[in-house]
Amino acid sequence: MRRGCILRGLWYDWVSGKKLIDTTRPNRMQLKTILNRIQKHRSFVYGEARLYEDGGRLCLDVELRARANGRPQCSGCARSRPGYDTLAPRRFEFIPLWGIAVYFVYAMRRVECPTCGVVVEAVPWGSGKHQSTTTYVWFLARWAKRMSWSEVAQAFRTSWERVFRAVEMAVRWGLQHRQLGGVGAIGVDEVLWRRGYKFLTVVYQIDKGVRRLLWVGEDRKAKTLLRFFRSFGSERSAQLRFICSDMWQPYLKVIARKASGAIHVLDRFHIMTHMSKAIDEVRAKEAKRLKAAGYEPVLTGTRFCLLKRPENLTESQEIKLAELLKYNLGTVRAYLLKEDFRFFWNYVSPAWAGKFLDRWCTRTMRSRLDAMKRVARMLRNHRELLLNWFRARGAISAAAVEGLNNKLKVTTRKAYGFRSFRAMDIALYHALGQLPEPNSTHRFC
Ligand SMILES: [Zn+2]
Repeated sequence: MRRGCILRGLWYDWVSGKKLIDTTRPNRMQLKTILNRIQKHRSFVYGEARLYEDGGRLCLDVELRARANGRPQCSGCARSRPGYDTLAPRRFEFIPLWGIAVYFVYAMRRVECPTCGVVVEAVPWGSGKHQSTTTYVWFLARWAKRMSWSEVAQAFRTSWERVFRAVEMAVRWGLQHRQLGGVGAIGVDEVLWRRGYKFLTVVYQIDKGVRRLLWVGEDRKAKTLLRFFRSFGSERSAQLRFICSDMWQPYLKVIARKASGAIHVLDRFHIMTHMSKAIDEVRAKEAKRLKAAGYEPVLTGTRFCLLKRPENLTESQEIKLAELLKYNLGTVRAYLLKEDFRFFWNYVSPAWAGKFLDRWCTRTMRSRLDAMKRVARMLRNHRELLLNWFRARGAISAAAVEGLNNKLKVTTRKAYGFRSFRAMDIALYHALGQLPEPNSTHRFC
């Protein structure tokens, strides 16, 4: 079968551009009606449609024509300009229908513009540079929020790069159009995203009711966070009321300098992460020691029993934990200290919480568990920031940073197939940024 496209009722050969004889009556169906309903262009009309096979796939070409009285618009300055000439017909990929690839076929005109010279016209369904219609690009980007990029590529029989570029476009548009006013609370966090200790710094908005990713930066230096504040602007920074972060020194310094009006909070999620790490360390060391001394491996397989909250344990984990607690082990003592510390978060008054904290730290310092002592020392050193948690209560959503962080990890793990930071940060903004999308009359997915 010869490949061609139809234009003004005549067939053109794709390769040579020569006119072909029209042998089959194109079937008009009700396609025009549907297209006019879902995607109408003011100065253009839909023409004939033609179904054909290309490389084993069914394709549908839909002709687009400029209205006879419409003057082309310059793509440089968006003004109406006199036509110069008409280029060979081009195809713009539209959203596939019933597994059929759909293309708009249009012969772009060039305009003679006094300001821009001879340039190609602007068309409402796409840009002169892209092979896809804008609608199709947004369609792919929307699906890429629900599935991994390779799954989207597979489902719509397109390439990974195409999906990536679609997401990139959506993110760029979203970042340009998002509103950053009214951000009162932010959380700053560092995230390990690649083996070999590559870190990201992420900034979330964690106001009650609005949780989203605001910014991603490579690395976790003071410089990195300074870049956020620079892009966020001093006016907005001055309006920040609460900032949650980890005890990471470079962040603490920058936050004190750049958002001195905000209450800086060390939040529960970060503290408990340190605590879990300490228990892990105590357990690993002790297990090694017991093994070397030829004892029963009582600690094997207990990691999750120790780290999970007791109410989340499975029955068999519960039994295992009960068994373990009978031993007089450092691991058990560390576990009990951690469990005890959970009461800290139940306090209402910062004063009482402070008293509890001091007692807990004193007890832990006597525990002879180095890893736990390190946590206690750290908490003592940041006592005020820690107690700010109680001053900020109610204004920030407690689980926000944790929730967003978990989502972020899912995104980074989702096998997007990227190695570069650029692809990564685009994926994160797309998944977590709650970026706006342009209004369209018809929702395609
Ligand atoms: Zn122009």
